[in-house]
Amino acid sequence: MFQGISIVTFNKSFKTEDDCKQYLFAMKWKDGYKCRRCGFTASNKGKTSYHLRCKVCAYDESVTAHTMFHKLKVPLLKAFGMTFRLSVRKKGMSTVELSKEYSINQKSSWLFKRKTQEAMKSSGEHLLDTKVEVDEILIGGPEKNKRGRNKGDKKLVVIAVEKVKGDKIGRAYAEVIQQASGDCFKPFFERYIDKDNAQVITDCWKGYLPLESEFEIRQKPSNGGKGFPGLHLVIMNLKGWLRGIHHHCSEKFTNGYLNEFFFRFNRRNFLTSIWHKLIERFITSQPYNYKANAL
Ligand SMILES: [Zn+2]
Repeated sequence: MFQGISIVTFNKSFKTEDDCKQYLFAMKWKDGYKCRRCGFTASNKGKTSYHLRCKVCAYDESVTAHTMFHKLKVPLLKAFGMTFRLSVRKKGMSTVELSKEYSINQKSSWLFKRKTQEAMKSSGEHLLDTKVEVDEILIGGPEKNKRGRNKGDKKLVVIAVEKVKGDKIGRAYAEVIQQASGDCFKPFFERYIDKDNAQVITDCWKGYLPLESEFEIRQKPSNGGKGFPGLHLVIMNLKGWLRGIHHHCSEKFTNGYLNEFFFRFNRRNFLTSIWHKLIERFITSQPYNYKANAL
């Protein structure tokens, strides 16, 4: 497993396409081989050194098949480099920077970044389960009347931050919602908050009250964010980052940026393994379907 955040060490470890394929090969079949077609668990060498062929049905599987590296438009070596930059750099990298640094056109770098953001989506395995502070924010413009009907081009985002060990900030998640109502909060709460163990704290907005039947909810005044200093800090960081890189984009793409921000944020204390974790996601996620996620 590659560990570290140094680009020099990274470049030494991955010099060729084969270096990348070897790494993927070790990861993909680390728990042993199983044929996708017939389920048999023994294989021979396949078409290349980076294929395995089933001993029974002869199904040949490449190291990138059924992963997000399938039919990649850029060489693996560049994809590895880009995922490294996008995961270990505190602020990630813009598509313009990526295309300059890796000599690929803007469209390819944009598509690859979209794919990476998809891989960065929460697995849903780590629910927030302590004190969880929740609020909504508007992104893409000055924050006024966030719960009103006129949000214009801005997107309403719900954000949840857990407090661990006293008052330290733990994990956090955020997602675009249509409006600040119980119906819109509910899927977000169910996806990210442990209903049996979490104590949710919100400001005094009535939109959270319908969730009281499922979640333990306590309300207290926000006082312009002062009542929720940890949450407020995370929001300031998120907004600062978005202002730096964010261009006008649709709701679906805004969620991509939120996924990217919180993937890094939730691993800020485990940076040396963050790239490996991201590659693991690329391997275990299904190939990214650009058509289904219509551009
Ligand atoms: Zn088979």
